[in-house]
Amino acid sequence: MRIAIQGGRVIEPGHLDAIADILIEDDKIAKIIKTDEIEPAKSTAASQMPDVRTIDAAAKIVCPGFIDMHVHLREPGHEYKETIETGCRAAAWGGFSAVCAMPNTNPVNDNGQITEYILSRAVQANFARVYPVGAISKGLEGQKLCEFEKLKASGAIAVSDDGLPVMDDQLMRKALELAKNCGLLVISHCENLNLNAGGVMNAGPTADQMGLAGIPNISESAMVERDIALSELTETPIHIAHVSTAESVRAIREAKIKGVAVTAETAPHYFMLTDEAVREYGTHAKMNPPLRAAKDRAAIRAGLADGTIDVIATDHAPHAAHEKTVEFDKAANGIIGLETAVSLGLKLVEEGVISISDLIEKMSTAPARILGLENGIRIGRPADITIIDPDVAYNVDATKFQSLSRNCPFEGWQLKGKPVLTMVAGQVIYEFDFE
Ligand SMILES: [Zn+2]
Repeated sequence: MRIAIQGGRVIEPGHLDAIADILIEDDKIAKIIKTDEIEPAKSTAASQMPDVRTIDAAAKIVCPGFIDMHVHLREPGHEYKETIETGCRAAAWGGFSAVCAMPNTNPVNDNGQITEYILSRAVQANFARVYPVGAISKGLEGQKLCEFEKLKASGAIAVSDDGLPVMDDQLMRKALELAKNCGLLVISHCENLNLNAGGVMNAGPTADQMGLAGIPNISESAMVERDIALSELTETPIHIAHVSTAESVRAIREAKIKGVAVTAETAPHYFMLTDEAVREYGTHAKMNPPLRAAKDRAAIRAGLADGTIDVIATDHAPHAAHEKTVEFDKAANGIIGLETAVSLGLKLVEEGVISISDLIEKMSTAPARILGLENGIRIGRPADITIIDPDVAYNVDATKFQSLSRNCPFEGWQLKGKPVLTMVAGQVIYEFDFE
């Protein structure tokens, strides 16, 4: 099977930005022909070859497949929220050719059998690729390290206790040393439980006025600083998940200047919303870490712009309606994000915070680099490709989402630009129906 993607603006940050045709043979990129390098008479050469499906990408942006480093697929154990199949389909619809699956399932992905089960379900689903993240500690209990070698041998790409911090400093140090030995990335959910004050939203005037307990910024940033210190000590890379505070951005920026191997991600809700969203969206604005103050949102945007924050991930956290339609104190943390992330990223581009090339870097090439994955629009590489239409305007309608869950604060938002095609290994797994 051959596919020709024709006439699109092909962007691989730092490598290629040109109008070009891409020819895909089987699962690989076979040819890249810049339009200015071919004679007009031959520009349709690919489409005239037999057995070639042509995709018209004129006025669209063709990028390396997007990779979401932070997704909760909920299977095994919480299939009423999401399954690997629905989550991977939602990923494809959202423009992601691959996702990292966090280990807080039931049972926890703290052993090779669960890792292998997740991978087998992902193969059956046949949508986005899944890279399982194994747990750092057995049962996410923060007591005993998992067998990283076995997790890695079964297909885990990284380790994390995401959802919970590793509170024990010595255990985290050992985790980094062990991860270094077996070549696994450590992803840290940074939260000092002794400093979070039992809060349910960001500490500040909104929490005070609503009579809700607040979580101070330091509960995140103190842990970010500890993890940077441990990364420096052990000379082991660390990736900081879902950065939400100005103090965390500052700490990561300073660490990078010192040469510490720290990378970081944030999620669209942290650059789009503030804690005032809790008034309007209620429990659909409840997550951990919480939405912060306007000064934090500004710092997150500055961190994205200057490269302190390497990655935009979603922290896609599906929950059933009954877990959100309860009192704020008791509601589950998290929102779904796979099917809105690219459009919200494009909003950041439209607002002039980052360039389109930066957005592609943060959603594709940077996650690939951090995870050690092969991606990119290059001859011989796997044909994992995302095509974006920057002009299509639409209103967010969560009832149409592929995800099983509907906990989305962006419902009804008018957005412009969206993924229109996602390809994995030369296979189209999602194509937008223009009607
Ligand atoms: Zn987390």
